Amino acid sequence: MQSIDEFLSNNRSWASKMNADNPTFFSKMAEQQNPELLWIGCSDSRVPAEIVVNAQPGEMFIHRNIANQVIATDFNCLSVLQYAVNVLRVKHIVVCGHYNCGGVKAALARQNPNLVITNKWLMHIKNTYRLHQAEIDEQETETQRVSKLVDLNVIEQVHSLSHTSIVQEAWDKQHGPVLHGWVYNLDDGLLNSLITINPGDDIPPIYQYEPI
Ligand SMILES: [Zn+2]
Repeated sequence: MQSIDEFLSNNRSWASKMNADNPTFFSKMAEQQNPELLWIGCSDSRVPAEIVVNAQPGEMFIHRNIANQVIATDFNCLSVLQYAVNVLRVKHIVVCGHYNCGGVKAALARQNPNLVITNKWLMHIKNTYRLHQAEIDEQETETQRVSKLVDLNVIEQVHSLSHTSIVQEAWDKQHGPVLHGWVYNLDDGLLNSLITINPGDDIPPIYQYEPI
């Protein structure tokens, strides 16, 4: 594990190598960003967004929180979403979960008295468990139960994106973005797609915005 000073010295080495490889890299990067993808992932240190898809600086706009959730009252995530969609006009939004997720595991356990704030954040995942309880409980092992809820949570968050006014308005006016749900496997480093929702796909009427 790096010491804190090593993080800084590694940064200097990285910047110097990038500059040597491409002398205009930083000056061009400083002018503007034009990412085509918004990534909503888990904060887990083992799922570094750019690294697992080999993306370069400038290619991905990123929001991460515990267990990659899109919650209708979370102004942090919604602000990122609004900027990504309305200003950067990203073509794709990916919600990326991962197996062995500590947040999802915690949601399947009793509430931890030392984590009263985190408990509230995880409440949404407990609700997803309750919606799919039979399907999750029938899994043979604890690991399989967590993995099933990881998948279902990703799918739920992609649906939540489609319920926002931001996405629905963009579908109407920009014919994008496409919504994707992916899951990352810590054991082999591979991503798998679980769900794709295209602009204009059916949304249950109770989540639809009335035309103004
Ligand atoms: Zn996680």
